[in-house]
Amino acid sequence: MTTEEDTECKELATPFVPFHVEHITAKQHYVDDTLSNLALACDRCNAFKGPNLASVDPTAGEMVNFFNPRYDELNEHFQLVDAALLGLTPKGRASVHLLQMNSRPRIQLREEWISSGGISLRRNSRFYA
Ligand SMILES: [Zn+2]
Repeated sequence: MTTEEDTECKELATPFVPFHVEHITAKQHYVDDTLSNLALACDRCNAFKGPNLASVDPTAGEMVNFFNPRYDELNEHFQLVDAALLGLTPKGRASVHLLQMNSRPRIQLREEWISSGGISLRRNSRFYA
């Protein structure tokens, strides 16, 4: 649980926020405490996600599963545009929307992190490799 790959909130990841151990599939659906079902999540993502497993893609209006940090590729689903996250797929868009990843405080945190050199990426490119 210490690598970036374990972090559900890699898209938000900043050194400024604490992380919680999150059950990707909430216990109320199925009890699975194995590492394959655990990820680090910031308190905001954890609160907005709650026990949900899916949400609606705001573009297509269709129900889709959330981004799963254990099985999905970050760069396939998200792109950083300045300090905002762009969902590239239905799963990415639904995750950005439900988890409110582009709320003003989160964009401000990303701006601080980018300006401090915490994110090494090209502007308007996909996430760091
Ligand atoms: Zn988060």
